[in-house]
Amino acid sequence: MNGFPRHNCQLHREREAVARCPSCKRFFCRECVTEHEGRVVCSACLRKEGTEENRAAWKLGGAWRAAQVAAGLALAWLAFYWLGSALVNIPSDFHDGVYWEFQQEWRD
Ligand SMILES: [Zn+2]
Ligand SMILES: [Zn+2]
Repeated sequence: MNGFPRHNCQLHREREAVARCPSCKRFFCRECVTEHEGRVVCSACLRKEGTEENRAAWKLGGAWRAAQVAAGLALAWLAFYWLGSALVNIPSDFHDGVYWEFQQEWRD
């Protein structure tokens, strides 16, 4: 006797447990546990953690997309503003220069 109480898998009563899930503290056989980020967890906890991670990743992705959209809008606004101010400066040169010469040529 090694002193340890024998545990059987929570899902397979006839099988000897090889690992204890750190999340739910239940014993499982080799088939029922999976190594996940350096920890051995049962499939139920893995699924639970997986969905939570997916939700967090989705939330992060949503925030990232929102940030990208905001950045894109800010950039578009800046470009539009810059283009607008550039266009405001152009006509004076345009009228004094090329456009005026063009008009003169037309009259002659
Ligand atoms: Zn578990
Ligand atoms: Zn099992």
